[in-house]
Amino acid sequence: MTYIVLDLEWNQAYLQKAIAVQKRIGGHLRGEVIQIGAVKLDEQLRFAGSYSLIVRPKFFQKMQRHVARLTGISQEMVDRGCPLPEAIERFRRFCGEDCVFLTWGPDDIPLLKDNLWAHRIPSPWLDKVYDLQVIFNRQTDGVKCQRSLEYAMDYFDLPQDLPAHDALNDAYFTARVAAKLDIARGIREYATSHQSALQDVSFGESDIGQEGFASPEALMGDREIATMTCPLCSRVLKNDGKPLHTRGHKYQLIGRCEEHGNLLFTWRLSRNFDETWRARKLVERATAEDEETFRRKSEEHANRRKTRRRPRHRRGAAGKSEAGASEIQG
Ligand SMILES: [Zn+2]
Repeated sequence: MTYIVLDLEWNQAYLQKAIAVQKRIGGHLRGEVIQIGAVKLDEQLRFAGSYSLIVRPKFFQKMQRHVARLTGISQEMVDRGCPLPEAIERFRRFCGEDCVFLTWGPDDIPLLKDNLWAHRIPSPWLDKVYDLQVIFNRQTDGVKCQRSLEYAMDYFDLPQDLPAHDALNDAYFTARVAAKLDIARGIREYATSHQSALQDVSFGESDIGQEGFASPEALMGDREIATMTCPLCSRVLKNDGKPLHTRGHKYQLIGRCEEHGNLLFTWRLSRNFDETWRARKLVERATAEDEETFRRKSEEHANRRKTRRRPRHRRGAAGKSEAGASEIQG
């Protein structure tokens, strides 16, 4: 097995342009990859190769001035760059069959997946990915915040002897940090704290061409959005009927599948650019910690309700099992 330490540089577009492109392709595209940089490490974290390629963007072809300034990648360079489908083919040959990806921060792989989707290139080969920021935090001071790569370099007293914001140099820096960490242990522990979702779907994203919802009530009253079925066996799940509503339009509820155990459902509501509403529905296996947190928060919530008089209590027009899900607090 090999580790591929990956870093990407992106070009962006103005918001209106990005929205128009997203509607056209029917998917997210907030940035387009212009450089792929990667360092290959063997199982003992020894250097085993490097990859760097300038990619020609297809949708956001005009280089943004601040991106050019930051990365040193000019319009001329991207114009002569390699188209993404070919770049990805070459990159996959470099990666080989049995690899896991290491990145600094959570953003690169989802953005790359969006880029592949725009070209209709499958991306499950990118699924084995670990965010080194998380492993770094766990193995140093345990603080849960996003640290810059420079912070980690300083922490380990590593020389920053190459220009930053070049995908290959940043991949080198990240690889040096990785070599200071216990990656095998980090990956073992990672699985328990960062499981990948069983289901992750979005509804009402008008920014990418779906129809937005008029209000949070309308969203949570929608049968398809509110219904809790097990993504593994499609059973309709038993639940306590009342999603816990926390700050930032987040709703959570645990559903019980007799075959697959307890599943944590999370709905995150947000506004589209045209002021309509969208929701992201996430289903994960509920850990004992999730269940404990959920139970504690529900109790706190119930207690707050008892002590606070609530003049209004609105309910949307939803079906029986979804009735709880449409409860919105003003
Ligand atoms: Zn099930």
